[in-house]
Order: sequence, then C-alpha cells, then structure tokens
Amino acid sequence: MSFLRDLPIRRKLVAILMIATGGALLLAGAGLLTLDYIRLRQDMATDLETLAEIVARNSTASVSFQDIGDAEETLTALDAKPSLLGAAVYDRRGNLFAQWKRPGAHPDVPLRPGPEGHVFGSGSLVLFEPVVLDGETIGAVYLESSLSEIWRRLRLRALTIAAVFLVAALVALGLSSGLQGLISKPVLHLADTARAVSERNDYSLRAEKQSADELGRLVDAFNQMLSQIEERDTELQAAKEELENRVEARTRELRQANDELQQTNRELDDFAYIASHDLKEPLRGIHNYSMFLLEDYADKLDAEGRSKLETLMRLTRRMEVLIDSLLQYSRLGRIDLTLEEVDLNEVVAEVLENLDVNLKAEEVEVSIPRRLPGAFCDRVQAGEIFHNLIVNGVKYNDSPRKRIEIGYREGQPPVFYVRDNGIGIPDKHYDAIFRIFKRLHAREKYGGGTGAGLTIVKKIVERHNGSIRVESVPGEGTTFCFTLAKGDSLAEHPVEPADPAG
Ligand code: ADP
Repeated sequence: MSFLRDLPIRRKLVAILMIATGGALLLAGAGLLTLDYIRLRQDMATDLETLAEIVARNSTASVSFQDIGDAEETLTALDAKPSLLGAAVYDRRGNLFAQWKRPGAHPDVPLRPGPEGHVFGSGSLVLFEPVVLDGETIGAVYLESSLSEIWRRLRLRALTIAAVFLVAALVALGLSSGLQGLISKPVLHLADTARAVSERNDYSLRAEKQSADELGRLVDAFNQMLSQIEERDTELQAAKEELENRVEARTRELRQANDELQQTNRELDDFAYIASHDLKEPLRGIHNYSMFLLEDYADKLDAEGRSKLETLMRLTRRMEVLIDSLLQYSRLGRIDLTLEEVDLNEVVAEVLENLDVNLKAEEVEVSIPRRLPGAFCDRVQAGEIFHNLIVNGVKYNDSPRKRIEIGYREGQPPVFYVRDNGIGIPDKHYDAIFRIFKRLHAREKYGGGTGAGLTIVKKIVERHNGSIRVESVPGEGTTFCFTLAKGDSLAEHPVEPADPAG
C-alpha cells in the first residue's frame, strides 16, 4: 500500500474506496460462482438420477425377458439428450446386456456395473442405478453425462458477474469521486490556510469549520493554536516596540550626556586655557620684579637674600614652562582638527629634519623599514605625535648606539609604532606616564621635562578616535604603538621588530 502514501489526498480517498469496493465485489462474485458450481453439479446429478430411474423402469421387462433389442431401443432413445455420452444395461449377474454410445464420444462402457450412485469424474458424471422388479434387483443401468454444460453455464455466469462488476465499479468510482470531498475538502482547506499563514506570516487568518466530526475538531484546535500564536505575537511585538522605545530613549540620553560631556570638556579646556593664559602675566611680573630687586637692591641684599631671589626666579621660569605645557594641552581641545589624507612619510621626514641637529649630536640611528601608509588625520598634530615619541626615544636612552625605528603593522586601521633601545619603562608605570606632569625621574635627569608630552600625544590620538599603548622591557627599550582611527587592530600582542637587532 506504500504506493498510496504520496498520492494527493483526493486520489488516495478514491483509490481506497475503489480498492475496498472492488475487493468486496470480487469476493462476492467468487462466492456466487462457487455456489453456482455446487448447485449446478447437484442439479445435474439429480437430473441424471431421475433419467436413470426412468431408463431402469423401462428396462425392467427387457432385462427380465433378456430382450436385448428392446433394451437397446430404450437406450437409443437417450440420443435426444445431448449431454449424455453413453448408457448401458446389465443383467442380474452383472454382465453387459445392452449399450449405447454417442457417436464420437470417447468413453468405453464399463463391462461390469459399479456401486450404486453417482460419481463425478474428470469431465463427466457417471451413475449406476439398479433395475428393480418387485423389490428385487434384477440388473443395473449405467449413464454417463458430459460436464460441458456446467462449464458453459459457469462461463456465462462469470461473464455476467464481470459485467456487473464493471458497472458497479463505474458507479463506485462516480460515487467515491463525489463523496471523497467530504473528507478531502476540509483537509485541503486546512492545508491551504496553514500555507497562507506561513507565507504571509499572518496569524489572524482562521480555517473555516465545515463539519462537527474529527475534522471539525481538528480545525477548532488549529484555529485555537493560531489564536495563541497571534496573542503571543502581539505581546512580542509590543515588547519589541517597548524595547526599541527604551533603547531610543537611552540613546537620546546617552547622546545628550555625550554632548554635555563634550561641552564640559570644552569648557574645562577653555578654563585651563584662560586660567593659564591669565596666570602668565602676574608670573612674568613676579619674575620681572625679582629681577628688579636683584639689580636695584643688589647692595642692600646679602648673599642669602640674593640666592633666595635667584631661586624664586628659577621657580617662576619653571612655572612658566608648566603653564605653557598646560596651554598647549588645553589648546588641543579648543581647536578643530583639519582632517585630510596625509602622507605620513612626509610628516616623519619633516619631524626628523627639525630634529636633525639633536639626532646628529646624539649620533642616533633612525630607521624606517618600509614606507608608511597614508592616514586620514590632522597633519600638524600627527607631526606632534611623532615629534614627542622620537624625542622621548632619544631622551630616555643610555645606549652608546641609540636607535629609533619608525614603522607600522598592517591592520584595519594600521598600527604605527616608534621603537627605541632606551632605558625602558617598568610595566607598573604604563598608565602613569600618560598623566599630565607625571615624570618617572628627578626633575633634571634625562634632560628634564614637564611630563606633558605623552599626555598631549594621547589626547591627539584619542581625538582621532585612535588608541595608544606602550610595550617595554626595562633596560632594553620601549615601543609606543598607536592608531589614528577606530578599529580592533591595537590588539594585545606586541609589534614584532622589523630589525632583529633592534
Ligand atoms: P617628559 O618627557 O616631559 O618627562 P612625557 O609625558 O613625554 O614627559 O613622558 C612621561 C614620562 O614617561 C617620562 O618622564 C619618562 O619617565 C617616561 N618615558 C616617556 N617616553 C619614554 C621612553 N621612550 N623610554 C623610557 N621612558 C619614557
């Protein structure tokens, strides 16, 4: 029955009905034929027995008087019955007395009578009937009849049954084609609705209930399921909208906070700028008046007084340098970046040219293993980054042969680096060195400084949406890596040196 499995439901139903009807009809036909066969055989035996009785009665006189001629005449009269093949009469001692055979018929008449009664043989029915006179058996009659009549009738019956089968099958086909709709229609409707729901994602659709049977209950269950999904869908949609609204509100808040932060930063920069700018004037006044004191009251001051005034002047100079650094730092936040496609090779070349005297004096070996890629940045500020990092690389370097390497590592965005073979930085100071005015050494050591250089570098890098990090082995050297745009390239693995000796 597996061939039925993939048929469309309509055909399947018709096929099932046809198989059932056909099977029942075939069984009924076979039963009828069998019954017919049995009845025809019985009828034939009964007919032949009646005929044998008549022949026996008619032969009583010929047997008792041994009148062969009379007996043969009786038998010859049987010629009128076409199904008879042969006949015989036996005397009291069982000897063949008279016989008749249909011309062309095959059987030989038995020489002696068999037991009374009929026997169906192959192709014929054989019968022995006693000839009785006054209650005494005085002989026997033998009749043999062909079975071809039975077969002829059975054939006819089979043909009739086949014709009935055909007509019944046609009627069944018509009826089942019409009635299968009772089952297939609701099922197909359900399938169509399910397809429409999944194609249109529309859970408001409902299947139409067409009956109150199991199919009707299936439709009810299906619709109920759709209702539940629709309800959940609505809830989900509402939750999604609420979430979106919340995200939107949060984004607005963040944007506002960011704007405020930027505003505050700018105000802070402004404040630092103005404050440092305004502080410079009185500072210069203090310095000038100290100088006047030293010059105009030199004879009135003792050595200690002069020394203290000189210290005061030195401190004011230092304070001025610090204020200048602060000014430079706060100015960075006040001016807008001039972003453009910049050839960093040119930028680095200019920086190196400006530092040329220093580099030559220190006999620094500068290497650029390969040409740097371009960057979208502020040209002047990019120059400031390289300037500060190169100066530091030379400044914090005790090596007899000072080396600076400037390069980059491929990435999105590329990671630039400035490497030196200087004193290095212990990793506990990696964060501190980027804080303003933070120095790791005594004021005058390594050429002095304000501790603002790296803070300025970091601010420039971050204004370009980039990041900066330091790698260092104390005593061997330091590498500063930075990017000039957002990206994941500044990962935590070190930039490999291009020069194995470096
Ligand atoms: P400054 O150089 O004026 O002190 P910086 O901000 O440039 O200020 O540097 C901060 C500190 O970081 C320096 O005082 C120094 O101790 C350390 N540093 C910076 N660059 C290097 C370097 N290339 N090698 C070793 N130490 C460094």
